Amino acid sequence: MDGKRGLIMGVANDRSIAWGIASTLAQHGAELAFTYQGDALLKRVKPLAEQVGAKLVLPCDVTDEASVDATFAAIEKEWGKLDFVVHAIAFSDKNELDGLYLNTTRGNFLRTMDISCYSFTAVAQRAVPLMTDGGSLVTLSYYGAERVMPHYNVMGVAKAALEASVRYLAVDLGGRNIRVNAISAGPIKTLAASGIGDFRYILKWNELNAPLKRNVTIGEVGGAGLFLLSDLGAGVTGEVMHVDSGYHTVGMVAVDAASE
Ligand code: NAD
Repeated sequence: MDGKRGLIMGVANDRSIAWGIASTLAQHGAELAFTYQGDALLKRVKPLAEQVGAKLVLPCDVTDEASVDATFAAIEKEWGKLDFVVHAIAFSDKNELDGLYLNTTRGNFLRTMDISCYSFTAVAQRAVPLMTDGGSLVTLSYYGAERVMPHYNVMGVAKAALEASVRYLAVDLGGRNIRVNAISAGPIKTLAASGIGDFRYILKWNELNAPLKRNVTIGEVGGAGLFLLSDLGAGVTGEVMHVDSGYHTVGMVAVDAASE
């Protein structure tokens, strides 16, 4: 990643998936900028940014167009161009990440879609003009986009739309040598995940039933991020890469599998 510059959006703390990707990219020589959402998170994001030598730490709330504009204006001013963006942002009212999907309200549906899906397209719109030598955009998804997971509810619907956005953006941007991919991560204990009802049960289920018989780490998601954001992934676009200990491949686990 020597000589490549990229923006990391979605670090809340050192357990964030975005941090797993950022620290891996930094180890491989990338120069990074970070965004943070709201002043309360600055005190967590700033020291992490300093740890990897990042000088640009910018406020950005993706629900605010002016805030997204200001982020990319600052990047343009400092760097002039951009090679990659990591979008690791999602939000839904935790009261609706419990119980039935049936009870999703219009207000939370729209807000969840805005923050967790549309924001990736909003970011792409601003990043693309800066990707003058081609580029790579990566967002984060979850298996709840493809199959029903307990309590994932409206977030599953938003992730399905996000994965569809990845494919549409890949086609729109392929001619400019800009690649667009998603990583579908297995369950990881983060701030956002703590809002999902029975999350510990999901973690345990994944651990018992995934082919690798364990959960993944943010460092392992970082490895996939490095592949997709570097020239190693030069031929890959429109892809949803699962980093989930293989859980998505399993239809049913044999009765005696646990004892093997
Ligand atoms: P996290 O809480 O560390 O990160 C979520 C980030 O979203 C935070 O930094 C938060 O500030 C940001 N965010 C929320 N609303 C925002 C807004 N309006 N403007 C700007 N930023 C906003 O949790 P995480 O688990 O690392 O989540 C990162 C991504 O990974 C999310 O898209 C999440 O859905 C996805 N993901 C998580 C898991 C998991 O099990 N943790 C699994 C698969 C996918």
